[in-house]
Amino acid sequence: MEKIYDLVIVGGGPAGLTSAVYAGRSNLSVLVIEKENVGSLYMAHLVDNYPGFPVGISGKGLQLEMRKQALKFNTEFLNATFLGIDIYSNPKIVKTDKINVKAKAIIIATGTGKFGGKKISGEKEYLGKGVSYCATCDGAFTRNMTVSLFGNGDEVAEEALFLTKYSKEILIFTKDETLQCKKELLDTLTANEKVKIIGNAELQELKGHEYLDFATVKVGEEIKEYTVQYAFMYLGTKNLSELYGEMAKLDDEGYIITDENMKTFTEGIFAAGDVRSKRIRQVTTAVSDGTIAGMEAIKYILMNNKK
Ligand SMILES: Cc1cc2nc3c(=O)[nH]c(=O)nc-3n(C[C@H](O)[C@H](O)[C@H](O)COP(=O)(O)OP(=O)(O)OC[C@H]3O[C@@H](n4cnc5c(N)ncnc54)[C@H](O)[C@@H]3O)c2cc1C
Repeated sequence: MEKIYDLVIVGGGPAGLTSAVYAGRSNLSVLVIEKENVGSLYMAHLVDNYPGFPVGISGKGLQLEMRKQALKFNTEFLNATFLGIDIYSNPKIVKTDKINVKAKAIIIATGTGKFGGKKISGEKEYLGKGVSYCATCDGAFTRNMTVSLFGNGDEVAEEALFLTKYSKEILIFTKDETLQCKKELLDTLTANEKVKIIGNAELQELKGHEYLDFATVKVGEEIKEYTVQYAFMYLGTKNLSELYGEMAKLDDEGYIITDENMKTFTEGIFAAGDVRSKRIRQVTTAVSDGTIAGMEAIKYILMNNKK
């Protein structure tokens, strides 16, 4: 008979692996589906702010340790690309490019999805060499440098504000006329002489030699080249809506809205980590979400087994 997993977790980053540790340790059968080597943690070259590692640890190294812990509690892994969930079947069916699997409960922990979307020319080539998706994480490496941010909204404004502690000059490029964020944030940024906001701007290309040196940007009708050592990318995750729109409510950026117990509006489907609509996206917050989602999923499975 075809196996029905108690819990299928989509995503093998810190959120998914934490849920796996909790559920596996509770003697549930757990499968983690992961597209290898594409998550945020995997991309982080040095994690300096995850408690317990006083000299820091590479993102890859930390993920490997978390994976080992999940394996210790008998978690199974499937290297595959998640394609969607049949939410109407019972048990639910998780579809991948390799096989389909049946699950009593599902946790979505696929991160921001920034790495799967369409790339700007040079984005992939300079990842870790000037291209970054997280100023809070990499800001400390930008001392006395000219940096750029691409995107719009509160997240970009807060990340730019964080960079004012380190960078020499901060260029914020937005496709809209100006940066749309909370008034107090905008006021603080515009009052800072390090910060320039450039509206009607569309990133065309990132160029350099060994490291990033230039960003080519279309500003209005003009193509301009800016000298920048860092490009922080916040160009949205709307591609996620195709995958999750049916099973969960999404915010304007395409992130999954859950309640505080990580529940989506579909019974038995939870979301944890960066894929959720939230303000702070860090390893610690992903681990916290993973804990809650794991424990709530365990409760859901046990309650439904009784029926
Ligand atoms: C460059 C960089 C540096 C960072 N540095 C720090 C730092 O120093 N400190 C800190 O606290 N945080 C840092 N962060 C943020 C931190 O990495 C994230 O907040 C955290 O990893 C989120 O965990 P997650 O499990 O939600 O998602 P992720 O770590 O992104 O993991 C997502 C998982 O889902 C899988 N996946 C995605 N899509 C699919 C699919 N379609 N099918 C199957 N699997 C899929 C991926 O393979 C991956 O296993 C950094 C982020 C970046 C990008």
